[in-house]
Amino acid sequence: MSRVALVTGGSRGIGAAISTALKDAGYTVAATYAGNDEAAAQFTETTGIKTYKWNVADYDDSKAGIAKVEEDLGPIDVVVANAGITRDAPFHKMTPDQWNEVVGTNLTGVFNTIHPVWPGMRERKFGRIVVISSINGQKGQFAQVNYAATKAGDLGIVKSLAQEGARANITANAICPGYIATDMVMAVPEKVRDSIVAQIPTGRLGEPEEIARAVVFLVSDDAGFINGSTITANGAQHLV
Ligand code: NDP
Repeated sequence: MSRVALVTGGSRGIGAAISTALKDAGYTVAATYAGNDEAAAQFTETTGIKTYKWNVADYDDSKAGIAKVEEDLGPIDVVVANAGITRDAPFHKMTPDQWNEVVGTNLTGVFNTIHPVWPGMRERKFGRIVVISSINGQKGQFAQVNYAATKAGDLGIVKSLAQEGARANITANAICPGYIATDMVMAVPEKVRDSIVAQIPTGRLGEPEEIARAVVFLVSDDAGFINGSTITANGAQHLV
Protein backbone atom coordinates (compact mmCIF):
# COMPACT_ATOMS: atom_id res chain seq x y z
CA MET A 1 0.00 0.00 0.00
CA SER A 2 1.32 3.44 -0.85
CA ARG A 3 2.26 5.90 1.87
CA VAL A 4 -0.07 8.81 2.56
CA ALA A 5 1.28 12.36 2.32
CA LEU A 6 -0.38 15.57 3.49
CA VAL A 7 0.76 18.81 1.84
CA THR A 8 -0.65 22.03 3.30
CA GLY A 9 -1.07 24.79 0.75
CA GLY A 10 -0.67 21.95 -1.73
CA SER A 11 -2.94 23.27 -4.45
CA ARG A 12 -0.86 26.21 -5.71
CA GLY A 13 2.75 27.29 -6.16
CA ILE A 14 5.50 25.31 -4.46
CA GLY A 15 2.92 23.15 -2.67
CA ALA A 16 1.29 22.12 -5.94
CA ALA A 17 4.67 21.06 -7.32
CA ILE A 18 5.33 19.09 -4.10
CA SER A 19 1.93 17.36 -4.22
CA THR A 20 2.45 16.42 -7.85
CA ALA A 21 6.00 15.17 -7.34
CA LEU A 22 4.92 13.03 -4.37
CA LYS A 23 2.05 11.58 -6.39
CA ASP A 24 4.47 10.80 -9.24
CA ALA A 25 6.74 9.10 -6.70
CA GLY A 26 3.89 6.79 -5.67
CA TYR A 27 2.39 8.50 -2.61
CA THR A 28 -1.32 8.95 -2.00
CA VAL A 29 -1.54 12.71 -1.59
CA ALA A 30 -3.96 15.05 0.18
CA ALA A 31 -3.41 18.71 -0.71
CA THR A 32 -4.95 21.41 1.47
CA TYR A 33 -5.81 25.01 0.73
CA ALA A 34 -7.32 28.01 2.50
CA GLY A 35 -10.07 29.45 0.33
CA ASN A 36 -9.21 29.56 -3.36
CA ASP A 37 -11.81 26.95 -4.42
CA GLU A 38 -11.31 27.59 -8.12
CA ALA A 39 -7.57 26.91 -8.07
CA ALA A 40 -8.12 23.81 -5.92
CA ALA A 41 -10.82 22.42 -8.22
CA GLN A 42 -8.61 23.00 -11.25
CA PHE A 43 -5.67 21.35 -9.49
CA THR A 44 -7.76 18.25 -8.70
CA GLU A 45 -9.05 18.13 -12.26
CA THR A 46 -5.58 18.22 -13.81
CA THR A 47 -3.76 16.00 -11.29
CA GLY A 48 -6.41 13.75 -9.74
CA ILE A 49 -5.09 14.79 -6.29
CA LYS A 50 -7.78 15.20 -3.62
CA THR A 51 -7.95 18.66 -2.03
CA TYR A 52 -9.22 19.64 1.41
CA LYS A 53 -10.07 23.11 2.66
CA TRP A 54 -9.17 24.32 6.14
CA ASN A 55 -7.36 27.17 7.81
CA VAL A 56 -4.02 25.93 9.18
CA ALA A 57 -4.07 28.77 11.70
CA ASP A 58 -7.03 27.13 13.49
CA TYR A 59 -6.15 24.08 15.62
CA ASP A 60 -9.65 22.57 15.74
CA ASP A 61 -10.11 22.98 11.97
CA SER A 62 -6.73 21.38 11.35
CA LYS A 63 -7.46 18.46 13.67
CA ALA A 64 -10.86 17.84 12.07
CA GLY A 65 -9.43 18.18 8.55
CA ILE A 66 -6.63 15.76 9.29
CA ALA A 67 -9.09 13.25 10.78
CA LYS A 68 -11.11 13.46 7.55
CA VAL A 69 -7.99 12.91 5.41
CA GLU A 70 -7.08 9.85 7.49
CA GLU A 71 -10.64 8.53 7.24
CA ASP A 72 -10.50 8.90 3.44
CA LEU A 73 -6.92 7.84 2.70
CA GLY A 74 -5.49 6.10 5.77
CA PRO A 75 -2.90 7.13 8.37
CA ILE A 76 -0.65 10.01 7.35
CA ASP A 77 3.01 9.00 6.99
CA VAL A 78 4.38 12.20 5.47
CA VAL A 79 3.60 15.80 6.36
CA VAL A 80 4.79 18.73 4.31
CA ALA A 81 3.97 21.94 6.18
CA ASN A 82 4.11 24.32 3.26
CA ALA A 83 1.17 26.76 3.64
CA GLY A 84 2.47 30.26 4.13
CA ILE A 85 1.60 33.91 3.63
CA THR A 86 3.26 37.32 3.63
CA ARG A 87 1.90 40.58 5.02
CA ASP A 88 4.85 42.88 4.38
CA ALA A 89 5.39 46.30 5.91
CA PRO A 90 8.35 48.16 7.37
CA PHE A 91 8.36 47.58 11.11
CA HIS A 92 7.22 51.09 12.01
CA LYS A 93 4.13 50.57 9.87
CA MET A 94 3.48 46.90 10.65
CA THR A 95 0.14 46.41 12.36
CA PRO A 96 -0.59 43.85 15.07
CA ASP A 97 -3.01 42.22 12.58
CA GLN A 98 -0.21 41.80 10.03
CA TRP A 99 1.97 40.26 12.72
CA ASN A 100 -0.75 37.94 14.03
CA GLU A 101 -1.91 36.73 10.62
CA VAL A 102 1.58 35.72 9.57
CA VAL A 103 2.38 34.10 12.92
CA GLY A 104 -0.96 32.27 12.82
CA THR A 105 -0.39 30.75 9.39
CA ASN A 106 3.37 30.31 9.16
CA LEU A 107 4.26 29.32 12.72
CA THR A 108 1.18 28.24 14.67
CA GLY A 109 -0.04 26.67 11.43
CA VAL A 110 3.00 24.39 11.42
CA PHE A 111 2.27 23.32 15.01
CA ASN A 112 -1.39 22.76 14.12
CA THR A 113 -0.45 20.62 11.12
CA ILE A 114 2.09 18.39 12.81
CA HIS A 115 0.63 18.03 16.31
CA PRO A 116 -2.46 15.99 15.32
CA VAL A 117 -0.43 13.48 13.24
CA TRP A 118 2.46 13.12 15.70
CA PRO A 119 0.89 10.50 18.06
CA GLY A 120 0.07 8.22 15.10
CA MET A 121 3.58 8.52 13.69
CA ARG A 122 5.06 7.67 17.10
CA GLU A 123 2.77 4.67 17.45
CA ARG A 124 3.54 3.34 13.96
CA LYS A 125 7.25 4.09 14.32
CA PHE A 126 7.49 5.95 11.05
CA GLY A 127 7.11 9.53 9.97
CA ARG A 128 8.56 12.08 7.61
CA ILE A 129 8.06 15.79 8.22
CA VAL A 130 9.26 18.59 5.99
CA VAL A 131 8.63 22.24 6.81
CA ILE A 132 9.00 24.83 4.07
CA SER A 133 10.82 27.73 5.71
CA SER A 134 12.54 30.50 3.74
CA ILE A 135 15.81 32.21 2.93
CA ASN A 136 14.36 35.18 4.81
CA GLY A 137 14.12 33.13 7.99
CA GLN A 138 17.87 32.62 7.70
CA LYS A 139 18.93 36.16 6.87
CA GLY A 140 16.01 38.46 7.79
CA GLN A 141 14.43 40.81 5.28
CA PHE A 142 13.43 44.45 5.10
CA ALA A 143 9.66 44.80 5.72
CA GLN A 144 9.35 41.17 6.80
CA VAL A 145 9.87 41.19 10.57
CA ASN A 146 6.74 39.05 10.90
CA TYR A 147 7.58 36.64 8.08
CA ALA A 148 11.28 36.26 8.94
CA ALA A 149 10.42 35.60 12.61
CA THR A 150 8.02 32.80 11.69
CA LYS A 151 10.37 31.20 9.20
CA ALA A 152 13.23 31.25 11.71
CA GLY A 153 10.81 29.79 14.27
CA ASP A 154 10.00 26.96 11.86
CA LEU A 155 13.66 25.93 11.95
CA GLY A 156 13.44 25.71 15.75
CA ILE A 157 10.38 23.47 15.44
CA VAL A 158 12.17 21.14 13.05
CA LYS A 159 15.36 20.89 15.11
CA SER A 160 13.39 20.09 18.27
CA LEU A 161 11.08 17.57 16.61
CA ALA A 162 14.08 15.85 15.05
CA GLN A 163 15.38 15.08 18.53
CA GLU A 164 12.00 14.04 19.92
CA GLY A 165 11.06 11.80 16.99
CA ALA A 166 14.38 10.15 16.18
CA ARG A 167 13.86 6.99 18.26
CA ALA A 168 10.46 6.49 16.64
CA ASN A 169 11.98 6.68 13.15
CA ILE A 170 10.41 10.06 12.52
CA THR A 171 12.53 12.65 10.74
CA ALA A 172 11.87 16.38 10.59
CA ASN A 173 13.72 18.60 8.17
CA ALA A 174 13.34 22.07 6.70
CA ILE A 175 13.88 23.50 3.27
CA CYS A 176 14.72 27.18 2.94
CA PRO A 177 13.85 28.16 -0.61
CA GLY A 178 15.22 31.34 -2.08
CA TYR A 179 13.04 33.26 -4.50
CA ILE A 180 10.81 30.87 -6.46
CA ALA A 181 8.57 31.77 -9.38
CA THR A 182 5.13 31.44 -7.76
CA ASP A 183 2.15 33.80 -7.28
CA MET A 184 3.74 35.00 -4.02
CA VAL A 185 6.84 36.30 -5.84
CA MET A 186 5.14 37.25 -9.10
CA ALA A 187 2.89 39.57 -7.02
CA VAL A 188 5.98 41.67 -6.26
CA PRO A 189 6.29 44.64 -8.67
CA GLU A 190 8.42 43.77 -11.73
CA LYS A 191 11.06 46.37 -10.88
CA VAL A 192 11.54 44.90 -7.42
CA ARG A 193 11.59 41.39 -8.86
CA ASP A 194 14.34 42.37 -11.31
CA SER A 195 16.40 43.72 -8.44
CA ILE A 196 15.89 40.42 -6.56
CA VAL A 197 17.03 38.37 -9.56
CA ALA A 198 20.10 40.60 -9.82
CA GLN A 199 21.09 39.39 -6.32
CA ILE A 200 20.90 35.69 -7.25
CA PRO A 201 24.24 34.39 -8.57
CA THR A 202 22.40 31.72 -10.59
CA GLY A 203 20.75 34.62 -12.47
CA ARG A 204 17.17 33.41 -12.27
CA LEU A 205 14.31 32.61 -9.92
CA GLY A 206 14.01 29.02 -8.75
CA GLU A 207 11.27 26.73 -10.06
CA PRO A 208 8.72 25.10 -7.71
CA GLU A 209 9.77 21.67 -9.03
CA GLU A 210 13.31 22.28 -7.76
CA ILE A 211 11.94 22.45 -4.22
CA ALA A 212 9.59 19.52 -4.81
CA ARG A 213 12.42 17.19 -5.81
CA ALA A 214 14.24 17.94 -2.55
CA VAL A 215 11.08 17.10 -0.61
CA VAL A 216 10.70 13.76 -2.40
CA PHE A 217 14.25 12.86 -1.37
CA LEU A 218 13.84 13.99 2.27
CA VAL A 219 10.72 11.87 2.79
CA SER A 220 12.21 8.75 1.19
CA ASP A 221 13.61 5.76 3.09
CA ASP A 222 17.03 6.70 1.72
CA ALA A 223 16.99 9.91 3.78
CA GLY A 224 16.40 8.20 7.15
CA PHE A 225 19.63 9.54 8.68
CA ILE A 226 18.97 13.13 7.58
CA ASN A 227 17.15 14.54 10.57
CA GLY A 228 16.96 18.11 11.87
CA SER A 229 18.63 19.48 8.74
CA THR A 230 18.01 22.61 6.78
CA ILE A 231 18.39 22.36 3.03
CA THR A 232 19.14 25.70 1.48
CA ALA A 233 17.92 26.04 -2.12
CA ASN A 234 18.48 29.61 -3.21
CA GLY A 235 20.78 29.73 -6.26
CA ALA A 236 23.71 30.75 -4.00
CA GLN A 237 21.99 34.00 -2.96
CA HIS A 238 22.68 33.47 0.75
CA LEU A 239 25.22 30.94 1.96
CA VAL A 240 24.94 29.56 5.48
P1 NDP B 1 1.44 30.61 -2.82
O1 NDP B 1 0.91 31.92 -2.34
O2 NDP B 1 1.66 30.40 -4.28
O3 NDP B 1 0.45 29.43 -2.29
C1 NDP B 1 0.15 29.37 -0.95
C2 NDP B 1 -0.66 28.12 -0.63
O4 NDP B 1 -0.89 28.10 0.79
C3 NDP B 1 -2.02 28.13 -1.27
O5 NDP B 1 -2.40 26.79 -1.56
C4 NDP B 1 -2.92 28.71 -0.18
O6 NDP B 1 -4.29 28.32 -0.30
C5 NDP B 1 -2.29 28.07 1.05
N1 NDP B 1 -2.58 28.81 2.28
C6 NDP B 1 -2.27 30.10 2.58
N2 NDP B 1 -2.73 30.42 3.80
C7 NDP B 1 -3.33 29.30 4.30
C8 NDP B 1 -4.00 28.99 5.50
N3 NDP B 1 -4.17 29.89 6.48
N4 NDP B 1 -4.51 27.73 5.66
C9 NDP B 1 -4.35 26.82 4.68
N5 NDP B 1 -3.72 27.05 3.52
C10 NDP B 1 -3.22 28.27 3.33
O7 NDP B 1 2.75 30.37 -1.99
P2 NDP B 1 4.18 29.77 -2.44
O8 NDP B 1 3.99 28.51 -3.18
O9 NDP B 1 4.99 30.85 -3.03
O10 NDP B 1 4.83 29.46 -1.00
C11 NDP B 1 4.72 28.18 -0.39
C12 NDP B 1 5.59 28.17 0.84
O11 NDP B 1 6.95 28.43 0.48
C13 NDP B 1 5.23 29.26 1.86
O12 NDP B 1 5.39 28.75 3.17
C14 NDP B 1 6.25 30.34 1.59
O13 NDP B 1 6.47 31.13 2.71
C15 NDP B 1 7.45 29.50 1.22
N6 NDP B 1 8.45 30.21 0.44
C16 NDP B 1 8.14 30.73 -0.80
C17 NDP B 1 9.10 31.37 -1.54
C18 NDP B 1 8.83 31.89 -2.90
O14 NDP B 1 9.75 32.52 -3.46
N7 NDP B 1 7.67 31.69 -3.49
C19 NDP B 1 10.46 31.56 -1.02
C20 NDP B 1 10.69 30.97 0.27
C21 NDP B 1 9.71 30.33 0.96
P3 NDP B 1 -5.28 29.16 -1.30
O15 NDP B 1 -4.94 28.69 -2.68
O16 NDP B 1 -6.64 28.77 -0.87
O17 NDP B 1 -4.97 30.62 -1.09
